[in-house]
Amino acid sequence: MFDENKEKQFILQLFNLEYSDVQEVSCIRAGNTVIIDIILVSDPVPCPICGCDQPHIKNYVTKNITHSVLSDRRCTLRYHARRYVCPVCGKTYYEHNPFVFKSMKISALTVYNILNDLKNYNETFSSVAKRYYISSTTVASIFDSHVDMKRKKLPEMINFDEVICLQI
Ligand SMILES: [Zn+2]
Repeated sequence: MFDENKEKQFILQLFNLEYSDVQEVSCIRAGNTVIIDIILVSDPVPCPICGCDQPHIKNYVTKNITHSVLSDRRCTLRYHARRYVCPVCGKTYYEHNPFVFKSMKISALTVYNILNDLKNYNETFSSVAKRYYISSTTVASIFDSHVDMKRKKLPEMINFDEVICLQI
């Protein structure tokens, strides 16, 4: 079932945003995909060149935000990024973009638990993913980034206690 408010809430939570951070958010369904358009509340930062703190809004540039978390949900985020222009020196620059995935917001404990669960041969990426309410793509990337498989000398039976390399 398509629930507009649920989709909006999902996006805001995913990026740690509050409704008060958002000027406009709309949600439409196009076939199998949900498209969310979002404009943030103007929160001008000073000009990076001259420091003038009264920039004008120049225009908006549409950026499509893609990430496996979104594509797993068949969700496309169209972020209308605001561009400022400095009235003093003419410099144009973007507002702060909160839609950058620097890393998945998953706690170290969760990562540890996920890796622990994956030691069990009966577990799959998708069974673990379900348990922690994340996508199996995310589980796979956690596995890839934390488990250093010694590919050259792979033993017949992999002892995960030996090959796991925790970076947390
Ligand atoms: Zn300036």
